[in-house]
Amino acid sequence: MRQDTVLDYCSDHLEHFFREFPKAQQRLLMLDYDGTLAPFHVRREMAVPYAGIAEILGRIQQAGHTRLVLVSGRVAQEVLDLLPLPEPVEVWGSHGWERRLADGTHLEFEIPETAAQTLAMINARLNDSLRPNLEAKPGCLALHWRDISQDHQQQLAEVAQNAWHEFATGFDLKLVEFDGGIEFRVNGRNKGTSVRTLLDETEATAMAAYLGDDQTDEDAFEALGERGLSVLVRNQPRPTAARVWIRPPEELIYFLHRWHNLATPCN
Ligand SMILES: [Mg+2]
Repeated sequence: MRQDTVLDYCSDHLEHFFREFPKAQQRLLMLDYDGTLAPFHVRREMAVPYAGIAEILGRIQQAGHTRLVLVSGRVAQEVLDLLPLPEPVEVWGSHGWERRLADGTHLEFEIPETAAQTLAMINARLNDSLRPNLEAKPGCLALHWRDISQDHQQQLAEVAQNAWHEFATGFDLKLVEFDGGIEFRVNGRNKGTSVRTLLDETEATAMAAYLGDDQTDEDAFEALGERGLSVLVRNQPRPTAARVWIRPPEELIYFLHRWHNLATPCN
């Protein structure tokens, strides 16, 4: 259930989690990318991780004590390109509509036909006037506006709203703002469905955590529930279902080092 206020960094939840942590037989670390591991950049293709993030994630990978999974609204390949790691990593992309396993297997989940048709119609309507701000990805059509003026952002939002009223049935798609734009998203999958699948594949006694910053991560926080530690990574707190709030990058890097140190035998 969503809290009215976020909890403090040094909360009982966090300390209890790490007290139990060394005893675990399995560990699952699920991480959002933009705004969590990487600061926002006006050019999305240049949103590289905070200094030190790739290094500590690489150490976690190579120690072999943790299953590491990235969960993003981006296309999965973009996340892989922006975050080079020493070992192959699993990525859920496009808000749960694609899954790229660590062995390179790429899965795209089937989008309901009516939703796919509606998305294609909206894409055709917007593509001429809004390119290059428009990004089509599995189950999603995003309008990015981080690199344009507020007036122009407002215009794009109105164009999106008009297309929404013209084409969308309201049942198959939703129109939602995210940090840096607005997007049409097919209902049925989100970061929460990704987390539920990962938890189903994991021992009930495993120590699991999900770290994210945006509204789209709330589905993941709620899906994790009592099965693990949900962490809001953000400079400013906000109402959230997460149990713990930390600020990037220092507290985030400290969290990841703590994870690695406590999971590593003989530390
Ligand atoms: Mg994010």
